[in-house]
Amino acid sequence: MDSHKSNYLAHLICSRCGEIHKAGQIQTICVHCGSHLLAEYDLANAAKELDRDQLAAAQGRQWKWAPLSPIAESNNIVHLGEGETPLFSLARFGRSIGHNHLFSKDESINPTGTFKARGLSAAVSKAKEFGLNNLIIPTAGNAGAALAAYASRAGMQATVVMPADTPPINIEESKAYGADVILVEGLISDAGSKVGDMLAEGDYFNVATFKEPYRVEGKKIMGYELAEQFDWRLPDVIIYPTGGGTGLIGMWMAFQQLLELGWLESKRLPRMVAVQADGCAPVVKAFTEGHTETTAWENAQTIASGLRVPNSFAGHQILSILRESKGTAIAVSDDEIRVAQSELGRTEGIFTAPEAAATLAAEKNLLANGWIDESESTVLFLTGAGMKYL
Ligand SMILES: *Cc1c(COP(=O)(O)O)cnc(C)c1O
Ligand SMILES: [Zn+2]
Repeated sequence: MDSHKSNYLAHLICSRCGEIHKAGQIQTICVHCGSHLLAEYDLANAAKELDRDQLAAAQGRQWKWAPLSPIAESNNIVHLGEGETPLFSLARFGRSIGHNHLFSKDESINPTGTFKARGLSAAVSKAKEFGLNNLIIPTAGNAGAALAAYASRAGMQATVVMPADTPPINIEESKAYGADVILVEGLISDAGSKVGDMLAEGDYFNVATFKEPYRVEGKKIMGYELAEQFDWRLPDVIIYPTGGGTGLIGMWMAFQQLLELGWLESKRLPRMVAVQADGCAPVVKAFTEGHTETTAWENAQTIASGLRVPNSFAGHQILSILRESKGTAIAVSDDEIRVAQSELGRTEGIFTAPEAAATLAAEKNLLANGWIDESESTVLFLTGAGMKYL
């Protein structure tokens, strides 16, 4: 990637009350209302000074877009080859269900096998810029492995707190990268409480989803990549497996930025679809019942461990994006997930994670009930590798 010494990060803004926070110092959540913070950029100047096609042609995978990232100095970027994942046409699977414009973005080739690498690459890079070196995370599994990898790469200490029944590879992998691993009984929310206790006692920096502002800035690059891969015209529908919602929110912010930069050839934005498992579907419930906030799901259960998130810290923003984009939220069963996983493997040579297979199950339902028309281009986010769940 080209080295750069400045970027266009202007400040952080609260996702709920709009309070502005300084970007030049360590920030966590809004000091006034406790909601998550979002980065805002000086896009007027970026539009004048940056060239879309020149950036797109650069090396650096995810980080070729570094001038539109929060990292001020390219020396601070901690990378392992994340991003620039392939967009595939799912022609055979699509034909089998009667949809000829079906695509997948395959995130399984990211380091550590899931798209969690994108966000943790950004968060660890920004932590390095601030001189932090003791990072902690509550996780359903994949984010912990990704934090452990990037912290190791940066020479920092990582502490990963996860449910005892997390897929074993995430536990082994985190240890292999030198992280301290703490197992708790229960769910990611219980891991979150444990991290809360540890923050009160020790000198850790918490990189839990949306408790710091920069993981979402790594995931937003999926939106830039999608635009580039579709020749700067976005697809009609995006189906996204939603836990904390980082990627959904990140992509939507990316689309707003691309509009403001004037880089899109068509101003029509995709309808955003959140998929959850029917054993843990707080976003689907709130969306269907017309609420503007999510509430915690009781007894969360699903084989898709990344979707076993009883409540998203950013629920209000996920719901507002689903409505603003004229999208929807849909729950699928573990059985539908298993069937879809096997169908994709047999038709397309892609062994995808259960969370990702949920997007295929949702696509089948939404095509069958007419919410998606066969003429509409639709992208399924295959967020991780099936191999991580054996
Ligand atoms: C974490 C995770 C998700 C959910 O992502 P969010 O951005 O938290 O909504 C989906 N799939 C996989 C494989 C994951 O690890
Ligand atoms: Zn606020």
